[in-house]
Amino acid sequence: MKTAFLYTENFMKYDLGENHPLNPVRLKKTYDMIKKYNILDFYVEAKPVSEHDLYLAHSKEYIEAVKTEKNLEMYGFGTPDNPIFKNIFESSLYYVGASVQCSGYSRAFNISGGLHHAKRNRASGFCVFNDCVVLIKKLLEKYRRVAYIDIDTHHGDGVQEAFYTDPRILFISIHESGKFLFPGTGDTSEIGIGDGRGTTINIPLAPFTTDEIYLDMFRKIVLPITKDFDPEIIVTQLGIDTHYLDPLSHLYLTLKGYGDVIREMKKISKKWIALGGGGYNLETVPRAWALAYSIMRDVDIDFTKIYEEESKEVKKYKDLGTNAKYFADVTYKNLKGEISEYFSI
Ligand SMILES: [Zn+2]
Repeated sequence: MKTAFLYTENFMKYDLGENHPLNPVRLKKTYDMIKKYNILDFYVEAKPVSEHDLYLAHSKEYIEAVKTEKNLEMYGFGTPDNPIFKNIFESSLYYVGASVQCSGYSRAFNISGGLHHAKRNRASGFCVFNDCVVLIKKLLEKYRRVAYIDIDTHHGDGVQEAFYTDPRILFISIHESGKFLFPGTGDTSEIGIGDGRGTTINIPLAPFTTDEIYLDMFRKIVLPITKDFDPEIIVTQLGIDTHYLDPLSHLYLTLKGYGDVIREMKKISKKWIALGGGGYNLETVPRAWALAYSIMRDVDIDFTKIYEEESKEVKKYKDLGTNAKYFADVTYKNLKGEISEYFSI
């Protein structure tokens, strides 16, 4: 199956400032690495989203505020996380547009997308517009059941909020617990309300969670639940801030473990749209997303040397994973209690 890769130099314009962790060079480096390993399947030039489609995720009032750059402080801007930057509206349109374009393919990757914290009426966590929500709304015009799987180290709160009452979306977020990290939400007790009760799944993990613990949780929770739900297409947010070298969080995954998670995702559905997300180590991000794209395409990149180096590094801290294992066991037990009437895990 062909896997579209969305890109444009215009992604570079979503620039929150020199010292901001969400440096758009992450995207350029990923594109360069995909070209270097000669794995680009087919290239799609990303285009800006129409204002009409932005309404699928945001209020008119909020869109107008971003467009006119008036009273932005009322909408979450002007903070270190969400500074007011140059061409804020125009530059934001490309990453959402690329996600919308993905909806036209059976398999596609928009590395600039996955901005999962933006709310209907508010910027949050580096995110102006929520491309994940716009994309899922577009997919609902064609599909009856969509599974969204978010492996960013931060809880996918903006997406959860948008579909909290909607049974057509299975929302799954596996993240560092809100007890330790922004945005503070994503507890196992958050399972949806009304018709959407049981279709929101949160898997919080502790600092120093290793590949082994993470994969075990993914296999025994995400795989059976998605099998039961039987989605027609999956949308995955592939943040790589779970990596042990990431400067913003405390999970302890390696590139190898990340790749293994992507391989598990592949078992869920042939139709698959992948989005980028967090990840702030400039060496790790391009490797991880090039690897993810190569796995989507069935042409694995050989990173053996890096796997060996990283494995040696994380072994030094393996004792710290003991508490993380205990925490994961508690999460599993709590989640099982919350959702046993909806899914068998
Ligand atoms: Zn993140």
